[in-house]
Amino acid sequence: MSFLTISHLEKSFGATRVVKDFNLDIEKGEFISLLGPSGCGKTTVLRMVAGFESPSAGSITIDGREVSSLKPNQRNIGMVFQAYALFPNLTVAQNVGFGLKVQGTPAREIAPRVAEMLKLIGLPEMGARYPYQLSGGQQQRVALARALAPKPQVLLLDEPLSALDAKVRVSLRNEIRMIQKELGITTIFVTHDQEEALSMSDRIVVMHQGIADQIGTPFEIYNTPATRFVAGFVGTLTTLQAQVIDGAAGHVRIGANDLWIYREVTGPEITLGLRPEMLRLGVADFDAGEAQLGGTILDVDFLGSVIRLKVDLGGETLAVDLFNNTRAAPPEVGSQVSLALHPSDALVI
Ligand code: ADP
Ligand code: MG
Repeated sequence: MSFLTISHLEKSFGATRVVKDFNLDIEKGEFISLLGPSGCGKTTVLRMVAGFESPSAGSITIDGREVSSLKPNQRNIGMVFQAYALFPNLTVAQNVGFGLKVQGTPAREIAPRVAEMLKLIGLPEMGARYPYQLSGGQQQRVALARALAPKPQVLLLDEPLSALDAKVRVSLRNEIRMIQKELGITTIFVTHDQEEALSMSDRIVVMHQGIADQIGTPFEIYNTPATRFVAGFVGTLTTLQAQVIDGAAGHVRIGANDLWIYREVTGPEITLGLRPEMLRLGVADFDAGEAQLGGTILDVDFLGSVIRLKVDLGGETLAVDLFNNTRAAPPEVGSQVSLALHPSDALVI
């Protein structure tokens, strides 16, 4: 049996169902992300696990114990929020020790635990400071230490990085993941940022309008999206309509281009999904089995590590990424290009 089980969880506010038949089994020590656009119900699920919101239906068990009727402080859960929710009038050490004090832990046990936590988050010297004397990233690390100090069984994080600068965000991602692994603590991390979810998670739950559209490893979510929503929300995707010429053989046609996608398909038409990295530009030497697509450059977008091209395939527009390492100038708007594609890479949506 899984360590944390959510079954048939529902939540309505008035007549609006914001979480619908949500099911999730989490193993001990797993790092799970809830990923989805704003308003899809991520925070509501997390708040039901924490006990700040009561489910309209369904059950939540942690370590074999049904917790739905328990108060938040009876659930053995640590939580970190988006905005720095530190107590401004308490020092860092008092903030980190707060949960222990509330539990009635003797002061002689609190001090060493606080020191241990401050060391864990890399701020061993900061105990006497006040929150306003810390950077945003440091405040979130203290919030993490405060959540972890009482040794919770489950850690819940609600967009803890979204108020931080891009650089700090990336370094804290790694730090949170390292600490989580070191402690082996079962974690649910809420984010609307696909890069965060892809880089940090053991598994991702992609949520859409209160429903878990797909649950899988980052690799599965990105490479084999289960729904059109997942395909479009995670990563960049161009969808193309293809006519089916011979479904059993996977022979389809896009405009004037014949492709063999090496999968059986049905229907007069299918939707193919192409990611920008699936295509190679302007190559004279095609690999065996590669298809060639011809098009016109509509737009050149310099993104730093990659240059993103918009290519018109005759009515359909395709995004194509070039690594910015060729030293050659990118193609000019209006020029004709040929693109190479392994058709078996294409997603059928
Ligand atoms: P997310 O965290 O994915 O952005 P939320 O779980 O916060 O989404 O919200 C999901 C939906 O539920 C939204 O439409 C939101 O407006 C609604 N909602 C959340 N909390 C309440 C509440 N206390 N009362 C009424 N509606 C709410
Ligand atoms: Mg939210």
